[in-house]
Amino acid sequence: MSEKLERFREYLNQMEQYKQIMAQLEWDMQTQTPKKGYDFKIDAITYFSGERFRIATSEETGKLFEEMAAPEEYEALDDAMKLTVRRGKRDYDRNKRVPADFYEEMVRASNVSGKAWEEAKQKSDYGLFCPHLQKMIDYTRRYVAYMEPDKEVYDTLLDMYEEGMDSAVIDRLFLQMKEELVPLFRKIMEKPEPDNGCFAGDYDINRQKELQAYLLSYIGFDKEAGVTGESEHPFTMEFGPGDVRVTNHFDRHDAVNAMFSAIHEGGHAIFEQGINPAYVKTAAVDIGMAVHESQSRFYENILGRNINFWKPVYDKVGEYLPQFRDIPLDTFYREINHVRPSFIRTAADELTYCFHIILRYELEKAIFRDGVNAEELPRLWNDKMEELLGIRPQNDAEGILQDMHWSDGSFGYFPTYLLGTIFDGMFLETMEQELGSVDTLLSDGRIGEITGWLHEKIHKHGGMRTAAETIREVCGQEMTAEPIIRYFKKKYTAIYGL
Ligand code: ZN
Repeated sequence: MSEKLERFREYLNQMEQYKQIMAQLEWDMQTQTPKKGYDFKIDAITYFSGERFRIATSEETGKLFEEMAAPEEYEALDDAMKLTVRRGKRDYDRNKRVPADFYEEMVRASNVSGKAWEEAKQKSDYGLFCPHLQKMIDYTRRYVAYMEPDKEVYDTLLDMYEEGMDSAVIDRLFLQMKEELVPLFRKIMEKPEPDNGCFAGDYDINRQKELQAYLLSYIGFDKEAGVTGESEHPFTMEFGPGDVRVTNHFDRHDAVNAMFSAIHEGGHAIFEQGINPAYVKTAAVDIGMAVHESQSRFYENILGRNINFWKPVYDKVGEYLPQFRDIPLDTFYREINHVRPSFIRTAADELTYCFHIILRYELEKAIFRDGVNAEELPRLWNDKMEELLGIRPQNDAEGILQDMHWSDGSFGYFPTYLLGTIFDGMFLETMEQELGSVDTLLSDGRIGEITGWLHEKIHKHGGMRTAAETIREVCGQEMTAEPIIRYFKKKYTAIYGL
């Protein structure tokens, strides 16, 4: 190992240790910390993230990247290290172009904005949040212009969450979805709703947790390399392929929601556990958001909302939660695919979820392309809701105030959710060409073969490839929404007898 490479590895190791301690603190804060201890935790996290940022942006680190990017060093590296140098240097150069005092000002504004959003949502009063949202829009614009002065602002934002993604690609995919799926949704709305009265009840929380553990190991979550916890909103946190943690939120009166959150987060976790361990301490462990979401959604929707998934395990569900013994599998299947218009994204079914994302994407474009300002957004939001879902929010809490993403400037993040779903349609068709019918695999209880396929094709590669590269290599074609549209049409035509 050259002396330069040795120093570079030392630097990567140092970054890893900061990542570990910050993840530890974050996990503790989200799952364990009592309310009165919050400020201590935030203090500690701020301290370590500041230190990490200071090291990552120091002159010395810049020189290190410069040296590693020189051909004689770079060419001798393996692919994961090449990626680490390339991405690290890009981020270093980007960060260097952002004036430090501007950055601090923006971080402070974002904290204030987050608090304002919380209060506004609670009181359903958009006026309290509007000026802060406008500030975050303006800060984001400037921030991105510093980082990538020659690139279009919204495309840079999209690229930050999924490398290589731009609005030309997303426009094409989302438009196709809208044109085909809105009419499908309208047809479903003409049909009678399934009766879901039998799901009301009191479900023991401990039994729900046992069921979660069962479902997680059924789909392939390795409990030797992961643990489960509880938090207000379910999430997945990785410390490395050998330690991936998922949380859930349990409700005494609704057992179904937690089952699907478990399968969703389980999908994220199985991906993380499957990454080639040789990638630890390189950029190859950082997976793009759309590809990540494609895996959680594949488990949750493509597999979990398929009746065949439940055939081998439905008796078990009844063992853990005896109320389910009286609910026929068909009734359960209808309920987990119950299409209905709803105001809240996180409560939406698999089909209408797409519209919630398209709405947010169109608004983000309106903001960053057409210069629409914060004052105009609630009306636009409500109009689009009516256009896509046929319902109009009665207040802003069930409209524009529902998500926290924009309050801290996370613009460009939402589209990754739907891109994940679009990729799933493509993965499903390719998988069936190579493995045969997924319905058969599932009803035979051979889900391990499905997880094995996903592992080989996707998981073990971690973040080595961009989304476009992954799709090309796994499916042998460019991104298209046609497979997922076919999936939706076939599935819901059968369920609703269209
Ligand atoms: Zn997710």
